[in-house]
Amino acid sequence: MSTFREKIIEGKEFIITCEFVPGRGSRGQAVEEVIKFGEKVAASGLPIHALSITDNPGGNPAIGPDVLAEELASRNVESLVHFSCAGMNRNTMESRASGLARKGLENVLVVSGDYPVGGYQGTARPVFDLDSAQAIRYLKEMNAGLPLPGKNKEGVPNALPQTNFFLASGVAPFGKNQAELYTQFVKLDKKIAAGVDLIIPQLGYDIRKFVEVLKYLKYRRFSVPLFGNCYVLSRPAARIMNKGEVPGVVVTDELLQVLEKEAAAADKGKQARLQRAAQLTAIFRGLGLRGVHLGGFGLKFEDFEFIIKYSQEITPNWRTFVPNFGFGKKDEYYFFPDDPELTFKEDKLVPVARPARKLFSVNFGLSRLTHRTVFTKGTIGFALGKALYRFLEKRPALGRVSYFMERQIKRMLFDCQECGDCALFNVGYLCPMSQCAKSQRNGPCGGSRNGMCEADAAKQCIWVRAYGRLAPSRALGSINEYVPPVNYALSKSTSWGNYFLGKDHTGRPAA
Ligand code: SF4
Repeated sequence: MSTFREKIIEGKEFIITCEFVPGRGSRGQAVEEVIKFGEKVAASGLPIHALSITDNPGGNPAIGPDVLAEELASRNVESLVHFSCAGMNRNTMESRASGLARKGLENVLVVSGDYPVGGYQGTARPVFDLDSAQAIRYLKEMNAGLPLPGKNKEGVPNALPQTNFFLASGVAPFGKNQAELYTQFVKLDKKIAAGVDLIIPQLGYDIRKFVEVLKYLKYRRFSVPLFGNCYVLSRPAARIMNKGEVPGVVVTDELLQVLEKEAAAADKGKQARLQRAAQLTAIFRGLGLRGVHLGGFGLKFEDFEFIIKYSQEITPNWRTFVPNFGFGKKDEYYFFPDDPELTFKEDKLVPVARPARKLFSVNFGLSRLTHRTVFTKGTIGFALGKALYRFLEKRPALGRVSYFMERQIKRMLFDCQECGDCALFNVGYLCPMSQCAKSQRNGPCGGSRNGMCEADAAKQCIWVRAYGRLAPSRALGSINEYVPPVNYALSKSTSWGNYFLGKDHTGRPAA
């Protein structure tokens, strides 16, 4: 078992990971620095437990983290390998996971992945086959020995050899409105149900949002370990983040102003930003989080060393630094009542109730009525639908006519993409295949900004829209359900028939 994993499970030591973004190409300064940094960690004895290596960050191509993790392992340095669901289909995921397992690289951070923004001779084709909740479930099933079809000569069911992944994943608590936060927590629930081993929130500078995740885990009585996320913020990075160019990251105008002032110092604000990172790390220690994910552009070993040592020194006074991290947005929504003293008393763990925005959509109203009367098991409508599709199954010509009509209706109402494995019910009757750039079926990715989509800032995130439709009707239960991956064998076939005849995901045993 790995030391990183063991220590997180033991919970006796504050765990530290340092993030690296090695960038494009097989060689170059950014790539070599990762290895050199690892060598310094191994020689120094500084409590850095793993190097966290990104996977095509920002939707750009980059050297894969697996190969660097292997090089680091040969120097006795552990890694946390980022495993981005963007760009891989489920088969590629399994191939990559098998390779990681074979090399003994078992600490994996599963993320939704950024929407592609660049690539060879144009922007790369977006591939979002599994979302992060589905990918965690898949890798956990590999840990248990993924069942395969058939039996061996002894009559034992076939299965893949067991893997031993330790799976981390994220949550983005910095969403501004109720819908963003609620749906993020729904997705977190699904990741925890899938068996995730560690939660690392998105980076940010509003401590109340980190505390919200901690409170949420307590409120739901989840015991999964939680890290803090501390990015050493320089002025150039702050400017980029302030413009919203890093998905899911919030740097407010007020924080940017502070950095602009600090940058006027002779050291261009370096000391101030390292101290800020040490203070944030001290708060995470004080809050009892299991560790911290440290990152920042162009940081040297000595910078990490300063942050780690100084944060240890100032941890006894951690509460005095809390007011330095109040960079929330105007009219920000918080899930729990304010608790400036951070008492975590039970009465502070009751979510704030706010009336949801009222929306009236004829499309939604009719879809809901149809679902209740026809697509709900046990209704007369369902029995008739099932009988009809049994009848059509045996009459292909009539079936084709019926599918033609279904297609016209679903295209007109939902911009249906004919996946044949419909999830409209789980996303407020919005099609995740056409309305979500990443086809997310189990909750939002972490990239939305003020409720707008990471990939198209002119469009509202589909999950914010779904929440707006469902919350007023108290029908949020449908988005809480785990939705398995699309079965592409059903593509371009009747999703109504597949539903009535139990051929789509609703016909499989519930997860
Ligand atoms: S619609 Fe929402 S979940 Fe889908 S890509 Fe955009 S921000 Fe992410």
